[in-house]
Amino acid sequence: MSTPRPEHVVVIGGGVVGTTTALSLAERGLNVTLIEHNSEAAGETSHANGGGITPAHAEPWNAPGLLGKLVRNLGRADAPYRLSPVALPGMGGWGLRFLANMRRERFLANARNNIRLGLYSLECLRRWRERYDMKYRQTLSGSMQVYFSRELMAESVQFRRELLQGQAVIEPIGVDEVIAREPALAPVRRELAGAIVFPDHESGDARQFSQIAAEQAAALGANLMFGTAVKSIRVDGGRVQGVVTDHGEIQADACVIAAGPQSPGLARPLGLRLPIYPVRGYSATFEVDRSEVLPTLPMLDTARRFVTLRLGERGLRVAGLADFAGHSRRIVPRRLECLLAGARRLLPELADELVTEKAEVWAGLRPVTPDGMPLLGETRVPGVFINAGHGPMGWTMACGSADLVAARILGEPAAVSLKEFEPGR
Ligand SMILES: Cc1cc2nc3c(=O)[nH]c(=O)nc-3n(C[C@H](O)[C@H](O)[C@H](O)COP(=O)(O)OP(=O)(O)OC[C@H]3O[C@@H](n4cnc5c(N)ncnc54)[C@H](O)[C@@H]3O)c2cc1C
Repeated sequence: MSTPRPEHVVVIGGGVVGTTTALSLAERGLNVTLIEHNSEAAGETSHANGGGITPAHAEPWNAPGLLGKLVRNLGRADAPYRLSPVALPGMGGWGLRFLANMRRERFLANARNNIRLGLYSLECLRRWRERYDMKYRQTLSGSMQVYFSRELMAESVQFRRELLQGQAVIEPIGVDEVIAREPALAPVRRELAGAIVFPDHESGDARQFSQIAAEQAAALGANLMFGTAVKSIRVDGGRVQGVVTDHGEIQADACVIAAGPQSPGLARPLGLRLPIYPVRGYSATFEVDRSEVLPTLPMLDTARRFVTLRLGERGLRVAGLADFAGHSRRIVPRRLECLLAGARRLLPELADELVTEKAEVWAGLRPVTPDGMPLLGETRVPGVFINAGHGPMGWTMACGSADLVAARILGEPAAVSLKEFEPGR
């Protein structure tokens, strides 16, 4: 049976996932309205993230062994992953499913699905960048995962090769080569063990990109409604009829929930339980005077689990940490300091600059599913689609997810199988 072409699709949420969904739909000639409750695109999780477009790193967090780390780190302010005991009761069934997905075979299967999606997403991003001449402070020269322990690096190289099965290129390099490619690391030469370079990775400002995607969607005819909150989705006779907003009702025969960590609240009244838990992360963005010592490549410090991102001429962002602590976006000073201390150790020449007083600090909630894969596709309520739950990899997966969900709405063949990402799985 062919899928009827919807007359009007409402996309709820103007983060990187919602704006790209609106663009994908508008490109297909559909009548689209994007509704976002902030006054501009990317006001929430897509606002100041780590900026990495890193498909080869798209594995879920719940690798075998994470549980032990979480338990050992309970109460430690300097741990990359931190579970707040007060959050435990609210995690319920989600927590149990998160644990079940730590089994090695499941983890590997989930990781490979994400990597496939991430690689497809990169193709979609590149197509759009060329088609619309998009500029979002991007770097296109790969990323580097930095190691201070030889053992950890050897383990990682073996693990990545097994995981990627040749789908993405990795280049392990020694210390001299690390410094040649990223001179900003020269001051830590003696502590370094080496790095893995991912030549196909990219980076860029997800917020700026989301704003461009929204503008481009509007140029193709999409209606953008900022400063408008969706209160509920109206379903009658078993089908979507529209959405109720704080500015009145909008009729539609399909809607896409792309509301990041707020998606479960929109779906619940329809009897749909979306397993998405908010995991807080932090970033600090700096305008640096000594731009000659700024790193140019996006980097991941493996042991301390944070990333650095160059933004334009003088900008540097440091992002990371994972607090399982419910919906609070509070910036915990000790956690922020832990992030900055790591950055100062990696980039000692910038130590005087990488301090709280000089930082634009931010916290965002990653929408994390228990198996670490996003929820993409139609729900059992006809006309209600989901594009949410991208966890720590929403920027990496956004363009591909948008394309796949738009194709699903129109009943087009999918470029990547959506079966594994079905919202009801
Ligand atoms: C510290 C940190 C670092 C990260 N680094 C990276 C990285 O390097 N690479 C990467 O790929 N990913 C990274 N991520 C993850 C990435 O940022 C997220 O996966 C992504 O931003 C999620 O996008 P989204 O559009 O689903 O959610 P959001 O950006 O949160 O967008 C959802 C939007 O929906 C709106 N909304 C919600 N409810 C309603 C409603 N009822 N009515 C109207 N609007 C509504 C919200 O206002 C919001 O703007 C990072 C995240 C964090 C926190």
